[in-house]
Amino acid sequence: MEEEHSQDYLFKIVLVGDSAVGKSNLLARFARDEFYASSKSTIGLNFKLKKLVIDGKEIKAQIWDTAGQERFRAVTAAYYRGAVGALVVYDITRRPTFENVSRWLSELNSHSDMNVVTILVGNKTDLKESREVSTEEGKALAELESLFFMETSALESHNVVAAFETVVKEIYDILR
Ligand code: GDP
Ligand code: MG
Repeated sequence: MEEEHSQDYLFKIVLVGDSAVGKSNLLARFARDEFYASSKSTIGLNFKLKKLVIDGKEIKAQIWDTAGQERFRAVTAAYYRGAVGALVVYDITRRPTFENVSRWLSELNSHSDMNVVTILVGNKTDLKESREVSTEEGKALAELESLFFMETSALESHNVVAAFETVVKEIYDILR
């Protein structure tokens, strides 16, 4: 029924993490079920809207992706402003991207006035042979920082929807 959808929710969710961990491909997979074998840079600020229905309520997730500024650690305040959710992404095949997670978390916290619902995402699980960060290490960091945790593969479409939905559902539970 139309009435059931009359209350609209719009949640701003940001993707953060080092360059080339797979942020843009996680979003492409979630928003359009697509994957790109090579990195495509985008120009300016970039976001995608994805509609979800939770408890019969229509929720619009406005998911922001960087245009590559993270390479220079130059993600602006405007990027974080108003965000209620975040995916902090690292690449399980590159340990330095995992070691930088705490820096991304403090950057996220310093730019937001509220508690941002955050999930730690270890991406590229399809690259089993090159794994440098164990699942246990990811879990332990998530517990330490009180974050949700999931390992994903944007390539194989593993856990991608689940990761985004975990954040959206938690925000909905807090705000309703
Ligand atoms: P971003 O800089 O964090 O936005 O990363 P991109 O989404 O541009 O991805 C960087 C590179 O990693 C690209 O070559 C992607 O094709 C690749 N990539 C992204 N996700 C995965 C994944 O789950 N598995 C594999 N094998 N490669 C991935
Ligand atoms: Mg990108």
